[in-house]
Amino acid sequence: MNSDIVLYTGRLTKRFKNVIAVEDLDLSVSRGDIFGFLGPNGAGKSTTIRMLLGLIRPTDGEIRLFNRSLENNRKDLLGRIGALVEKPSFYNYLSARRNLEIFATLTNRRPDPRDIDRVLDIVALLHRADDKVKTYSHGMKQRLGVAQALLGNPELIILDEPTAGLDPKGIKEIRRLIIELAQQGLTVFLSSHILHEVEQMCRNMAIINKGRLVVHGGVKELLNSDSDIFSVKVDRPGEAADLLKTREWVESVEALSGAITVKIKEQQVPVMTELLVQSGFHIFAIQPQRSLENYFLSLLGADNV
Ligand code: ADP
Repeated sequence: MNSDIVLYTGRLTKRFKNVIAVEDLDLSVSRGDIFGFLGPNGAGKSTTIRMLLGLIRPTDGEIRLFNRSLENNRKDLLGRIGALVEKPSFYNYLSARRNLEIFATLTNRRPDPRDIDRVLDIVALLHRADDKVKTYSHGMKQRLGVAQALLGNPELIILDEPTAGLDPKGIKEIRRLIIELAQQGLTVFLSSHILHEVEQMCRNMAIINKGRLVVHGGVKELLNSDSDIFSVKVDRPGEAADLLKTREWVESVEALSGAITVKIKEQQVPVMTELLVQSGFHIFAIQPQRSLENYFLSLLGADNV
């Protein structure tokens, strides 16, 4: 296996009684990458992350970190990972520095003042290091959470929805921080439901739905497929969608209220227009929808979710 693959899962599966939360999940994340892990609520993202962090055991399949099996090398491998999972909780009446010292102790690391200064500097909180956390904004607390994940100099950090609940300024700061971290050689595994975020930050991504992998690959390559999604404003969208479904050049089509979204190659747009007009439909507008959101919807739509 390629030694630059820092995180690998093979047929990873987790069953809870009769719920299959994650099924046959194959992922690989390269060193230095910002990897986007996308999926709607209940898709299995948290369950996957909990398995990656050794918090729950897989029912089946394999996890390899830095080319070694997690099962047989837990302590060593988990020591090379940092994580920000859910909302980080801090002692509000203590300073950021004191919080990091306590966290280091709790995770069996001797608090190293230089390491604490280093991580606070990375997240631009060194000047506030001795202020009580209760005086921090939500964005600053989230950055402190990233600082906590960076303690001990991990090679890989796993961030679960790191921008959730932040205002636009906070979101921008976290995104810039993540990009800087990757530029310094850190590998970032980022779960997000904000598809735009993945489009902006990640080089590679995986989308999961109902515990199963939907796509895995380069964000640019996946988005640059020669098929595009178009929103077609049309009367009788349900009937128009039914008609288009019968054509083999239509990859997917979905009726919404007042419009359809259709996935076709650009050169088929005149063919589609002619077909609809000749069949008595009125077209009011055709708009290309080249965003990850729509790409994601089209994937799920094609899957009939
Ligand atoms: P996501 O993080 O993508 O929202 P989760 O991993 O939390 O998804 O959940 C995936 C599925 O597994 C859901 O159907 C959820 O209800 C189920 N699930 C998660 N944890 C448990 C558990 N401890 N016991 C039973 N079912 C669970």
